[in-house]
Amino acid sequence: MPDGRRPLVAANWKMNKTTAEAADFMERFVGSLGGLEDVDLVVCPPYTALATAVEWVARTPVRIAAQNMHFEESGAFTGEVSPSMLRDAGVEAVILGHSERRQHFGETDEALARKVPSALRAGLLPILCVGESEGQRDAGETEDVLAAQLDADLAGVEAADLGGVVVAYEPIWAIGTGRTATTEQAQQAIAFIRSRLAARDDEAAAAVRILYGGSMKPGNAAELIAQPDVDGGLVGGASLDPDDFLAICRAGVA
Ligand code: PEP
Repeated sequence: MPDGRRPLVAANWKMNKTTAEAADFMERFVGSLGGLEDVDLVVCPPYTALATAVEWVARTPVRIAAQNMHFEESGAFTGEVSPSMLRDAGVEAVILGHSERRQHFGETDEALARKVPSALRAGLLPILCVGESEGQRDAGETEDVLAAQLDADLAGVEAADLGGVVVAYEPIWAIGTGRTATTEQAQQAIAFIRSRLAARDDEAAAAVRILYGGSMKPGNAAELIAQPDVDGGLVGGASLDPDDFLAICRAGVA
């Protein structure tokens, strides 16, 4: 995590927590933010707990993010939520292209090419997830997969605006498996992502924050985030417990 880029740590709760559980987490979390002034903190609850979470972070620097959104502003899209609806609800960021959405809900690169610019236009910070499967890594295709995802998903973003996007490198084989990437694997993939973006705009690539995600825990977060190109973490399972998540956030400033 080199100079100039502020570390960012985000909690992806996935499909977990009722409003009461969200309130319980937030009470413990926002009560313990001392010493975390130099880390951007983001919590991504399910839609039903967004309003509760937004209330709890008032007058704190914590930002609330959604886990997905539609690219259109309104219309006949039953079950979907638009960028301006998220803004209206006090949401400031959005995860896009999580591998669980790509795998189980048919999220495509074509849709993401519209979602990322749409989030930026609405003033939402997009957290774009990319990553290879185990088979792709074993076949030596990691960089090809990352390049294809980045090129397609960011095609609609002006090169100079790339610095306003957060990218999360999330190898699919490490998500929810307890099998964390090694520091070398994380650094290598994230350096590749940065170089791919640098081919479009050097300055933006130097500014863009690139997170690691995949079984990040209090015990491995510090060494991952200490890698020169790793600017923080997107945390799933370990973010459900406020103490574990706080410990990972503190690793962001270690
Ligand atoms: C995630 O869902 O983004 C994630 C990284 O999950 P986990 O930390 O549980 O592997």
